[in-house]
Amino acid sequence: MSQPLYLYDTYSRKLREFQPLSPEQVSLYTCGPTVYDYAHIGNLRTYLFEDLLKRILLFNGYKVKHVMNITDVGHLVSDADEGEDKMEKGSRRMSKTVWQIADYYTEAFRTDLKHLNIIEPTIWCKATEHILEQIKTIRQIEANGYTYRTADGIYFDTAKLPDYGYLARLDIEGLHAGARVELGDKRNATDFALWKFSPTSASGVPRRQMEWGSPWGVGFPGWHIECSAMSAKYLGNFFDIHCGGEDHIPVHHTNEIAQTQASYGTHLANFWLHGYFLQFDSSKMSKSSGEFLRLQLLIDKGYDPLAYRFFCLSANYRAKLNFNWESLDGAATALNRLRSTQYEWGAPSEPDPAFVARFTEQINDDMNAPRALAVMWDLLRSDLPKAVKKATLLKFDEVFGLGLADWKPAENTIPAHILVLADERQRARKEKRFADSDTLRAQIVAAGYLVEDTPQGPRVKKL
Ligand code: AMP
Ligand code: ZN
Repeated sequence: MSQPLYLYDTYSRKLREFQPLSPEQVSLYTCGPTVYDYAHIGNLRTYLFEDLLKRILLFNGYKVKHVMNITDVGHLVSDADEGEDKMEKGSRRMSKTVWQIADYYTEAFRTDLKHLNIIEPTIWCKATEHILEQIKTIRQIEANGYTYRTADGIYFDTAKLPDYGYLARLDIEGLHAGARVELGDKRNATDFALWKFSPTSASGVPRRQMEWGSPWGVGFPGWHIECSAMSAKYLGNFFDIHCGGEDHIPVHHTNEIAQTQASYGTHLANFWLHGYFLQFDSSKMSKSSGEFLRLQLLIDKGYDPLAYRFFCLSANYRAKLNFNWESLDGAATALNRLRSTQYEWGAPSEPDPAFVARFTEQINDDMNAPRALAVMWDLLRSDLPKAVKKATLLKFDEVFGLGLADWKPAENTIPAHILVLADERQRARKEKRFADSDTLRAQIVAAGYLVEDTPQGPRVKKL
C-alpha cells in the first residue's frame, strides 16, 4: 500500500511518518492489566485503541509481533511505591490466594478481549514468570551506577539521568521542591523502587504470598521493571511502538524509559502512543476508586459488546470520551442498522479502489476513526453496486473489527428496509401527514411486519 502512515509520537510530540525498524515485522508492546480485579470499560477503551493500531498496521501490509504483559505482582496501591501490593489486597478481599486471583482475573480479561473482537497478542507474558529477567535488568542498572539502597528496597536514582522525565516533559525542579518534606528515605521525589524488600516479621505487617530471593534480599520487583525486562527479552532493546493509557506518561512509561536508558542506552521504543481516558459523568473512571462499569454489566443489560467497540470508534483515541447510556444506545442502533443493511447486500465482489483510498487516507492520518466512519457512511449512501459496497465495507471492517463478515440476523431481527419505512412513517405522523403514514403502515404490514405505538415510541414486530 502506497499511502504513508502517520502516528502521533508522545516522545517527540510530533506526527511522524511510521517506518518499521525492520522490514520483516513491526514490534509492538502494550502494557497489560494488573490482574487484581476486573477490567472496567475505561481500561477496555485503551485496549481497543491498541487493537485499532494493530489492525491499521496489518491493513498497511505489515506483520506485527505484539507483546502484552500481565502485571501479577509489584503494582502497589499508590503509584509512588507506597502502600500494599494491589494483588495482595485483592487476595484478602476475595479470600483466595494471590495466584488464584491472578488466574481468575487474567481469564476474565481474556474473555473481555474476545467479546470485543480484539486480536490476541502474539505473546502474553506474566511478571511472576520473569523474575530472573527482572533481577538481571536491575543488576545491569546497578552495575551502571544508577541505584541506591534504602531500608525498604533498591531505588533508581533519577537525578543521575540528565533527561529523566523527557517523555512527560516533567518539571523536575518543581517536583523536587514540592515534595521535599515527604521524601522519606528516597533521594529525589521522582526516584522509584526497582526491588522492594518483604516486610520483616518484626514489622507486624502480614507476610507476603509472593516473594523471591535476590542478590539484595527477599522481596519482589517494583512495578515498572517488568516492562523493561520483558520487552527487551521479546522485542529487543529498541523496538517500534510502545502503547498505554495517558496516565502512563508521567510515571510508568517515564520510569520504563529511565530503566532502559540506564541498562541499554535507548529510550525503549521508536514511537510512543497513548490513548486518552474514558470519562464517566465527566470524571475519571478508576478501578481502585470503587464503583466501575464492567463489560459484563453492559452485556447483562442487553447490549452487544461490539456496540461498545463501535461507540469507542466514534471518538479519536487522542480525545477524552464521555460515556453515557444514550450514546451507547445510539451506537447500538447504528451498528444494528449497519449489520442488517450490509447483510441484505448479499455476496461481496471486489472493493472500490477510490473508496479504499479515501478510507486509508483517514486511518493513516493518526488513526482517525471518526473520519474513517464518515467515509463508511458515504459508502453506504453511494450508488455503487451492492456487491462492490459489500466488498469495500468488509475491507474497512478489517480495521473497525466489527465482525461484519460473520454477522447473521437473529430470527427476530427486523430488516433494515422495514426500519427505514417505520422511520418514514414516524416522521409523517409528526408532520401530521396522516395519509402518508397510513400508506407506510400498509407497506410495512404487507411485508409481514407490524408497527406498534408504545409510550417509548414506535416498535416494529414480525407479524
Ligand atoms: P491497570 O489495569 O489499572 O494497570 O490499567 C490498564 C490500562 O487501562 C492502562 O493502560 C491504563 O492506562 C488504562 N486506563 C485506566 N483507566 C482508564 C480510563 N478511564 N480510560 C481509558 N484507559 C484507562
Ligand atoms: Zn508497562
